[in-house]
Amino acid sequence: MTDRDGNVKVQLCQMKSLGEDAGKEETDPEDEMPASSPSASPDPSSCITSTGTDASVSKQRGEKSSKDSSGKPLQGVAVPAYAVKNFNSPVCEQTLHIKGTGKILQGKSESNGNYLGLHESRNTQETRCEDGCKLPRKRRPVTVDTSKAKTSLEALKISIKELKWKEFPLGRRAACDIYWHGVSFHDNENIVSGQVNKFPGMVEMLRKINLSRAVRTMQDLFPEEYDFYPRSWILPEEYQQFSAQIRMAKESDTSVSPTFIVKPDGGSQGDGIYLIRDPSDLKLMVGSQPKQAVVQEYINKPLLIDKLKFDIRLYVLIKSLEPLEIYIAKEGLTRFCTEPYQEPCQKNLTHVFMHLTNYSLNVHSCNFVHSDSQSTGSKRTLSSVLYRLAVKGVDIKRVWSDIIALVIKSVIAVVPELKVYYQADIPPGKPGPTCFQILGFDILLMKNLKPVLLEVNSNPSMRIEHEQEVAPGVFQYVPSPVDEQVKVGVIRDTLRLMDPCNKKSTASSQPKASGSAQGEEIQVDGEQQGRCPDNSGNLPPLCLKQVYPKYTKQFNHLRLVERIAALFIRFLGVKGNMRLGPTAFRTFIRTCKLSNSNFTMASVDILYIDITRRWSCALPDSREAGMGLQAFLEAFFYLAARRFKSLMLREQVVSLLELCEAHLGPQSGSEDRRSLSCSRVMPRVIKTQTLCLSNPQLNSPAAQRRAMSQDCRPHQRLKPRTLRANVEN
Ligand code: ADP
Repeated sequence: MTDRDGNVKVQLCQMKSLGEDAGKEETDPEDEMPASSPSASPDPSSCITSTGTDASVSKQRGEKSSKDSSGKPLQGVAVPAYAVKNFNSPVCEQTLHIKGTGKILQGKSESNGNYLGLHESRNTQETRCEDGCKLPRKRRPVTVDTSKAKTSLEALKISIKELKWKEFPLGRRAACDIYWHGVSFHDNENIVSGQVNKFPGMVEMLRKINLSRAVRTMQDLFPEEYDFYPRSWILPEEYQQFSAQIRMAKESDTSVSPTFIVKPDGGSQGDGIYLIRDPSDLKLMVGSQPKQAVVQEYINKPLLIDKLKFDIRLYVLIKSLEPLEIYIAKEGLTRFCTEPYQEPCQKNLTHVFMHLTNYSLNVHSCNFVHSDSQSTGSKRTLSSVLYRLAVKGVDIKRVWSDIIALVIKSVIAVVPELKVYYQADIPPGKPGPTCFQILGFDILLMKNLKPVLLEVNSNPSMRIEHEQEVAPGVFQYVPSPVDEQVKVGVIRDTLRLMDPCNKKSTASSQPKASGSAQGEEIQVDGEQQGRCPDNSGNLPPLCLKQVYPKYTKQFNHLRLVERIAALFIRFLGVKGNMRLGPTAFRTFIRTCKLSNSNFTMASVDILYIDITRRWSCALPDSREAGMGLQAFLEAFFYLAARRFKSLMLREQVVSLLELCEAHLGPQSGSEDRRSLSCSRVMPRVIKTQTLCLSNPQLNSPAAQRRAMSQDCRPHQRLKPRTLRANVEN
């Protein structure tokens, strides 16, 4: 270090201590829950020079110092790069004079005093020193409640430390800015502000049956656009159709011998999955209960690398539902089978190491290769695989843009129902947190390079260590560099995007154009990527890339069901409900003028009863009586077909939607929604609830749902076993 560097270091440390004093006035009292852990909270005030733990951590991860986010070395003195960045953003200017250097760094902040800019540590704010120069003053760090983070904890801790935020590992009495949950929105109850990393209803929506239903609705409307999801049947309700269709296919072409994969609803990590070649091989019952499962066409020609089948785990951030904002991590993982692949035949159907790519299964194979390199072993980075493919001449840009399209379309399929859950748990106008969520997309590439969606995981494993037998019979968790590189980047950059002080700057930093995903930049061979902050606290460019609304133009026409869901929500009326009662359904028909002499209100009632009854059989564990969104969609499609007989399904639906929207006018506020509401059937839960709930605060259906999910639900939607199984560990 030169003398001049030393001077700067001293100056900046002095600034820091001044800043700490100033910051204390702003910082909330240390109100962590009692008995705080010694491992808690990185010290956000750690010196902004490149000494100490941060430096060594960064060094271990191969970071370079004194570079801006574009990798260009800074000119002149080694001023902490993040400080430079702090002062490079638009809006109102601020200056930092660095004593002894003659340097004046200029910067800008939002009107609320938050610095703009993506790559800075935001824990400083301007103050003045005695001789009038402006100094960075400490800001209150962003607070994160990690008490429910479960297996994400390690990656989360590293991320919080890199950002110089403040962790509350045991929770906090006062509100935190961000709550990190390991399983579901309801891991912590009664959050009324801040942001939670889970959406209500996501676990339910992404169970195999519900995802299949949601995609099927889209396949009905947009068959060519939703051909990335294998043909699926829901068991037990579609067993007859499945058997009949397969029998017919075999009879019409005797050379056809398809294979199917059966996946239990709510299962994960390959649990309970098996392959069949004939409907008679289905295991339909668990004890005396019919087994809820999805049976799916098996993709028998996957792309192979080193003769092995593999799948892609892609991390996707839903930053917001309204407006819809989707980000995709540029880096992902690939998980390899451990037995060379052969097309399925009766003899190899049970070879799980050949057909299933799950890490949790293959790790038990003696062929599993743990590797610290990103491009070898049984778990590799996506970029290293894309690099291999590019070398072989594959058009990986095309593959990547197909993957982006698959992700956006899949999210569009589940958003309508998510919005129903969202308004029920966080009614508009009531205090509540906002939500975001990282999802794990499992994608298979077919031999012809077409990506296929296998499933979407609401709780993708964020573990950065793996179990290893360190001595015979002795297992230990050891760090997994590949997992750490990918997952820490995803969590840290999710936090950066959700930074309550940085929202404007992150939004404005993302491209606004709505061109084609074909031109999307692609990351190849992550070996070269600098992912961690350098020792001056500078952060690398975001690894999460906005894809929606960026590609709005290309995909907006697919958001048809969301408009139907908006109608549905409008007629739900009382906040917190998820089902329409018969009177509300009648009001919908009347308001939209859908009845006439050919379709009387008596027919409307029959339609309601008929469809609702059928759906309550299809969803035997549903918690409320009445018409849910799926049943409403069926009724809507029926009404559309009746009214616009000569059109194709999609045009029928669009025409009816336009008619309804014209009668309703612009979406009204929540008050209006209430006035549209009518007496509804009493949610079924209320009757049973009175036996076990006396708390008057539990009057709203949302509160009842939460309470039910704890201890006294009569019809558990998520069985405890299933809920656990949904979390990848
Ligand atoms: P789980 O949630 O239990 O992991 P998945 O749907 O991801 O269930 O399936 C487990 C594995 O089975 C996948 O990782 C993949 O290797 C394989 N698989 C799943 N669906 C198909 C399919 N339709 N065709 C071929 N392989 C499949």
